[in-house]
Amino acid sequence: MMIPYGRQEITNEDIEEVKKVLKSDFLTQGPIVTKFEKSVANYCNASYGVAMNSATSALHIACLALGLSSGDWLWTSPNTFVASANCGLYCGANIDFVDINPKTYNMSVDELAKKLEIAKKNNKLPKIVIPVHFAGQPCDMKAIHDLSLNYNFKIIEDASHAIGASYNKIKIGSCCYSDITVFSFHPVKIITTGEGGMALTNDKKIAERLRQLSAHGITRDKSSMSIRPINEIWNYQQTQLGFNYRLNEIQAALGLSQMKRLDKYVSRRHEIAKYYDSQFSDLPLVTPWQLPQAFSSYHLYPICIKENINQNLQKQIYDILHKNGIAANLHYIPVHRHPYFESLGFKEGDFKESEKFHKKVISLPMFPLLKDSECKKVVKVIKKIFKKYESQ
Ligand SMILES: *Cc1c(COP(=O)(O)O)cnc(C)c1O
Repeated sequence: MMIPYGRQEITNEDIEEVKKVLKSDFLTQGPIVTKFEKSVANYCNASYGVAMNSATSALHIACLALGLSSGDWLWTSPNTFVASANCGLYCGANIDFVDINPKTYNMSVDELAKKLEIAKKNNKLPKIVIPVHFAGQPCDMKAIHDLSLNYNFKIIEDASHAIGASYNKIKIGSCCYSDITVFSFHPVKIITTGEGGMALTNDKKIAERLRQLSAHGITRDKSSMSIRPINEIWNYQQTQLGFNYRLNEIQAALGLSQMKRLDKYVSRRHEIAKYYDSQFSDLPLVTPWQLPQAFSSYHLYPICIKENINQNLQKQIYDILHKNGIAANLHYIPVHRHPYFESLGFKEGDFKESEKFHKKVISLPMFPLLKDSECKKVVKVIKKIFKKYESQ
């Protein structure tokens, strides 16, 4: 079997917890979703968590809850999954990108500051900026937050990679430096619910909007009903256009059970990263550089080939790894380079650091169940490639 770049762990305890739900009265909305929301919010020290059926849904609803609509601008990083940008388009907003810092591969704070200054002159300041914690390494959130105070934009952290990470010793998800933080529970991410996501916030009003928008725009709270209750016995009203984006009890049971192992997972990921770091230090590779105030959850372990060597080396390494049973991956094709985004007017050369990064990066296997022997195999194959290369 191929060693994947990431995969989930499902324990017998997880299965037992899911079974209990399957035999219970509630499969959709019930006590376990609420428990899961509290568990994640407590872990991150955030006031509210609203579970949804994916991070993509959570990003969409987060944008709506912050009032994004047509004519507004949303900025994110080009080095991400397309969902970080699509959420703005769902709301009819315009999107743009801020190039990455070549050391952290996260949104560059200097580029952001420069772009904001220009946007201010042109009266095109963004309503929302979405920093993405690429590979699990937190962005420089304090610096981004400081800019948001100057330029008056909202912040949604796309923390799809970063549950379990922290910044300045504060857990990602605390929303200390943002309005909303979004997690993904897709099976390749840090913990899983099959498919799922969550939006966290400390603002009660935003939390209410998130909840209502993810459940058809329906309210059961009489005080927020726009007119008299329609009917005294069946008391709910749709007061805005919402969606059915809710997580169900079955998924929440899996997530709640996985939360118990979150810290263990992140420490195992650190162990693997440390091993890779130590093994690759003599090779012409750049291993993931860490911002001093950041503690990564190491969702990914991206290595970069030093720029001065062979153009085709990325593809060669990728092919050799695959031939040896190692399913390395590539994160990410810069979002603006996808045909759909090119059809919106973006083109090659727009965000040069992200494009350079994409041409030299490879994601190596990184997940808690990865065995020491498998890590050794990855290292051995990579070392062999460079030995061959050196002797040419
Ligand atoms: C996985 C991912 C998403 C989307 O998550 P889903 O839960 O699959 O919708 C969004 N942003 C980033 C950065 C991701 O890696």
